Amino acid sequence: MKEMLIMTPGPTEVAENVRLARAKATTNPDIDLAFYDFYKKTCSKLAQFLKTKSDVRVLAGEGILGLEAACASLTEKGDRVLVLDNGIFGHGFSDFIELYGGEAILLESSGKEAFSLEILEKFLEKDHDFKYATVVHCDTPSGVLNDLSSICPLLKKYGILTVVDSVAAMGGEELQVDKWQIDIALGGSQKVISAPPGLTIASISTEAYQAMTERKSPIASFYCNLLTFKDYYEKNGFHIPCQFLISMD
Ligand SMILES: *Cc1c(COP(=O)(O)O)cnc(C)c1O
Repeated sequence: MKEMLIMTPGPTEVAENVRLARAKATTNPDIDLAFYDFYKKTCSKLAQFLKTKSDVRVLAGEGILGLEAACASLTEKGDRVLVLDNGIFGHGFSDFIELYGGEAILLESSGKEAFSLEILEKFLEKDHDFKYATVVHCDTPSGVLNDLSSICPLLKKYGILTVVDSVAAMGGEELQVDKWQIDIALGGSQKVISAPPGLTIASISTEAYQAMTERKSPIASFYCNLLTFKDYYEKNGFHIPCQFLISMD
């Protein structure tokens, strides 16, 4: 097929060497320890890339899987969740929160500008009883870039966990997961990273895991349960095949 120039935020054009790497023979990811080592190495490279000491996991599913998995794993019935809404993807988080029984409280801001720290500060002074907050790094249709370096630390000052959709930004914009106190940072393979679609990248902090283990009710999903990834290395195994992984060497 003729080489195509695809000029969308993603799926993007995939370089030939990446396409060829996908044609490599793979082992059985469910039973072969070679895959386990490969997965571990890939995740630790991604952790370096995201500037975090937190666990990084790769999930077999497009970016939306990461967004849903974060909400499914954290949300319990009646939990209040703050949704920083200044774009289509920002707003969209409320659907996942409500699907898992949470109450999404939307803080709206113009879809044309970055989220105002001043508005957030004023809002949090009055109301900060939230289990977690969601924010989009770059909201793709408008291209608005939110300043996570100030938004996330402010939320954490109030003890609010931070969930970041960086699907469109990860790899293209600066992203310092630990320094900016991001509990769950989410990315996808097919945007800036320019690999084929089908993989979610998620960093998960100790505090985020703790919120999941301290739940009163079980996580209402199997595929979207981030706790099943928690002890992957200790268990030497995995329940979801990730044979789509390609070497990042
Ligand atoms: C593309 C995108 C998603 C969804 O990713 P898919 O891989 O298409 O499911 C989520 N959030 C943002 C900001 C995106 O640009």
